[in-house]
Amino acid sequence: MSQTEIAARVLVQEHLAHKHLQAMPIVKDIAAQKVRIKRLLKQNDASLVAHYYTDALVQELAEETGGCVSDSLEMARYGSSAAASTLVVAGVHFMGETAKILSPNKRVLVPTLEATCSLDIGCPANEFSAFCDAHPDHTVVVYANTSAAVKARADWVVTSGIAVKLMEHLATKGSPIIWGPDQHLGRYIAHQTGIDMLLWQGSCIVHDEFKVIGVQQLKQVYPNAAVLVHPESSYAMSEVADFVGSTTQLIKAAQEMPNKEFIVATDRGIFYKMQQAAPEKLLLEAPTAGNSATCRSCAHCPWMAMNDLDKIEQVLLLGHNEIVIDEELRQQALKPLQRLMDFAAAN
Ligand code: SF4
Repeated sequence: MSQTEIAARVLVQEHLAHKHLQAMPIVKDIAAQKVRIKRLLKQNDASLVAHYYTDALVQELAEETGGCVSDSLEMARYGSSAAASTLVVAGVHFMGETAKILSPNKRVLVPTLEATCSLDIGCPANEFSAFCDAHPDHTVVVYANTSAAVKARADWVVTSGIAVKLMEHLATKGSPIIWGPDQHLGRYIAHQTGIDMLLWQGSCIVHDEFKVIGVQQLKQVYPNAAVLVHPESSYAMSEVADFVGSTTQLIKAAQEMPNKEFIVATDRGIFYKMQQAAPEKLLLEAPTAGNSATCRSCAHCPWMAMNDLDKIEQVLLLGHNEIVIDEELRQQALKPLQRLMDFAAAN
């Protein structure tokens, strides 16, 4: 071995040793940090409520502390029934608002106030309200992914898990419907139910990226894989799906369908609970438009990714990032939300 080769090998080994030393404290820190957060949760009489799309470490911590990991409807339900006086809602801003609307006497904290949602951003309350005012005879139905102000303008709030059933119910009432803000979910519901709706043109930046061509190519490699699609994806995606449903329904499908392989078109955060539910199954990310040398899929919400252990610890230490909603607005937003909760409980 030449001197140059020996020098190169030493360099590589030093680098690896350094990496190793760096990795050790990180692993140790996470364990220690989780212990600290658990203590802080107790001291604050707080419960951690996490969405399926958050980081696996956040979901794991919520599970370990007796909190909740779920979709937005279940997060809202859990928040209002939990005994804790403080809720730490790891998700995006509208989820914190929904928790506050339903639990006004609880302190609701979010790891960061900056975590939002493209559906929420794409549906400003004043513009949406003007749209509704232009169609006064319409029943206004909004998806849960909206601000408190938009909910306050609506007659009904729905979540993806119950949307088709609820819209079928509303169709029996006979009045025309405005649907907002997710155009893809609206289109999917319209196809499923035959209901003609006026659609607000919002979309989710994550689900918008899934492409049929990518799924077809992946199917050539995994011909027996079932395709699971969240209805925030384009309608074309639902046409190549073996199952379309909300996050909770997709997890159930992976567990119950006989297939051994699944191509999953939703945020990759779901893989944590999906793999838990179906440990023997192979879960594959549905390809998106991302096609760089290192990334075939960009299926992760940048706002959900803002939730991490550091921010959860900080929010419990400092008590900042509290969700505050004007009481009159809260009362208005509660009405359509309560209708959803009552409908969900009865159906
Ligand atoms: S995944 Fe899409 S719908 Fe969900 S919070 Fe992110 S941007 Fe909004």
